[in-house]
Amino acid sequence: MRRSLRGSCTEQKGAAMGSRSVIVDNEAWSAICGERAEARHHLIFGNGKRDLAEEDGIWLPLTNDEHTTGELIRRVHDNPMAESLSKIAGQLAWESEYYRKAAQLAEFSARRAFRLRYGKSYL
Ligand SMILES: [Zn+2]
Repeated sequence: MRRSLRGSCTEQKGAAMGSRSVIVDNEAWSAICGERAEARHHLIFGNGKRDLAEEDGIWLPLTNDEHTTGELIRRVHDNPMAESLSKIAGQLAWESEYYRKAAQLAEFSARRAFRLRYGKSYL
């Protein structure tokens, strides 16, 4: 695992991994473009919260460009709107996982229900 100089959450695929993502079914591919993932973006980050997000599986696989190295408008970090949406999505994911565990539902059972209602999953 490595951290960028900006303190964001970059981890190369193939390196030692921590938690599984509670958000995506397949961690090998970017949740945004579908290309091979190169980094983990922890949806909640800053002030030591990244480690909690890792522990809770609140992260998405992204390409490096989507994460930190692409044009500002195409990446999450240093893009205020994307960072805010990331944290909103992270909280929603955490809350969803909290209730899934409390109700003892199968992993991704809400995903299946969403697919039935909306015809597809965006994750
Ligand atoms: Zn990140």
